[in-house]
Amino acid sequence: MLKYDVLIVGAGGAGLMAALEASKAKDVKVGVVTKVYPTRSHTGAAQGGINAALANVDASDSPEVHTFDTVKGSDYLGDQDAIEYMCQEAPKRIYELEHLGVPFSRLPDGRIAQRPFGGAGFPRTCYAADKTGHVILHTLYEQCLRNDVEFLNEWFVKELIVDNGEVKGVIAIDIRNGEVHAIQTKAVIFATGGYARVYWVRNTNAIGSTGDGMAICYRAGIPLKDMEFVQFHPTGLRSTGILVTEGARGEGGYLINNKGERFMEKYAPEKMELAPRDMVARAMETEIIEGRGWGEGMMAYVHLDLRHLGAKKIKERLPQIRMLAIDFEGVDPIEEPIPVRPTAHYSMGGIHVEDYKTSMTPVKGVYAVGECACVSVHGANRLGGNSLLDLVVFGKPAGAAAVEYARNKPEDTTFNLKAEEERARKEIEELLKKESKENINDIRIEMAQTMWDKVGIFREEKPMLEAIEKIKELKERYKNLAPGDSGKLFNTALINYLELGFLLDLAEAIAITAEMRKESRGAHARRDYPKRDDENFLKHSLSYYTEDGPKVEYIDVRITKYEPQERKY
Ligand SMILES: Cc1cc2nc3c(=O)[nH]c(=O)nc-3n(C[C@H](O)[C@H](O)[C@H](O)COP(=O)(O)OP(=O)(O)OC[C@H]3O[C@@H](n4cnc5c(N)ncnc54)[C@H](O)[C@@H]3O)c2cc1C
Repeated sequence: MLKYDVLIVGAGGAGLMAALEASKAKDVKVGVVTKVYPTRSHTGAAQGGINAALANVDASDSPEVHTFDTVKGSDYLGDQDAIEYMCQEAPKRIYELEHLGVPFSRLPDGRIAQRPFGGAGFPRTCYAADKTGHVILHTLYEQCLRNDVEFLNEWFVKELIVDNGEVKGVIAIDIRNGEVHAIQTKAVIFATGGYARVYWVRNTNAIGSTGDGMAICYRAGIPLKDMEFVQFHPTGLRSTGILVTEGARGEGGYLINNKGERFMEKYAPEKMELAPRDMVARAMETEIIEGRGWGEGMMAYVHLDLRHLGAKKIKERLPQIRMLAIDFEGVDPIEEPIPVRPTAHYSMGGIHVEDYKTSMTPVKGVYAVGECACVSVHGANRLGGNSLLDLVVFGKPAGAAAVEYARNKPEDTTFNLKAEEERARKEIEELLKKESKENINDIRIEMAQTMWDKVGIFREEKPMLEAIEKIKELKERYKNLAPGDSGKLFNTALINYLELGFLLDLAEAIAITAEMRKESRGAHARRDYPKRDDENFLKHSLSYYTEDGPKVEYIDVRITKYEPQERKY
């Protein structure tokens, strides 16, 4: 049986940062398991940049201002001690990335360049043109190879095995040959990314952003925190939902309606296009709903106009955006405005992390970092550029903490992990023999359309109750569904089938916690409860898995210096 001291599930920015740190300890065996080749992880698609108060462009910036901007951006739902830690650590992590080899864009004097981003008091977002995630991911991967980290590439983890409140291992499928394996480990770090594929019909995420780690931990008894908070990014390309970075507005882009107005003036007169994402997304949807956009239905849109920036700036700072607009919309932003519409983007909620300094969950030896985790530093609304930061700030100490935990943990000789492996193997064999009339895609699209229409940017009691019923129906239909391919080699239908099961559990948790939160806060906007209600809802939701859907409890938000105020921009 495969055995590690520290096993990391996921090879995006968070997983690789944890692996790099853990691999510095030469007395523990570290492994990374990932369903896609590491450099294909979604981190590689991150465009706009990573925040740190380096004060290179405006000397008035500081980690304190970054902390306040993030607390306010989170609509006061973020835990303030964790946010302060993240913002204080940020400059150190940027210089560490720089020393590891990340080629950041530069100011004329050679220092790291920084661009303005939404909800930020100063230009604070460090970037490498519009390919920041790509260069960070590749640099971290190179460094992991240099440190001899072992990779199990194209392996799919499907279960977490917990006994007596402690991790024993995971069950994984080697996608190349279909073999089912138990992997024994003393500590495991989940770094499996987000779940925006719940909103399959319109989202910015990689095809594999199906929230696997969240659902796996949830089923193993670890609660999910703040699942009702889903970020819709304002600027997705009209037809595909592919992302146009906030950096395009950071560089000076305008949002324009069919009357030719820069409509953000009405919604956020001070920050305009650089208000936080939740506000800009709602403003755009309102313009469209009230008839001031173009097009209809899912294809309705407003304009993102970059023409006044000039060809030189667009080519230098936003080359990828230009190519995406040309390839997917047939529009060259140097000559024409880009048609855009909000698109599902990011999961503020995730695996409940109890201790931000180690990223440990309530189960001993299980850690969670990156987008799959909820620390919580993003609260009800994440600021652009704070996710790449979250990956490296929390990934590093989690790697070190898992090593320490594994070192002090004698090898388990009593638990029968082999029996779990046998059980899982038989289950998969049965699954491959199964037949059904239904198609994976039908259930997936019905789930996604339901979530988009009824638990989307604007929410209300009745549609959400309908969505909960619909998801329950889809879960029943899923029980009779078969993967549709009985082969063993590269059976992607089996993987898609397992991912859909995860997505349905998460969709249910999102819809139920959203219905229960009778207020509007950050990305959770209810037409029937338009105000924030600190008296009753200044708290995190925790969803515990049961066969009949989540059991929801609440815990307090940690407030240190900043008393909640009304959020205006
Ligand atoms: C298009 C786009 C642009 C973005 N731009 C920015 C930006 O400019 N700035 C910013 O701060 N944030 C940005 N974000 C957000 C940010 O990039 C992500 O939140 C972040 O990269 C997630 O990193 P991660 O390490 O948590 O997971 P990911 O990079 O998503 O990696 C997940 C890893 O988990 C593995 N995995 C998943 N499930 C399994 C399983 N069952 N078994 C085995 N392995 C598994 C995958 O193989 C993969 O290696 C952007 C996001 C998108 C989608």
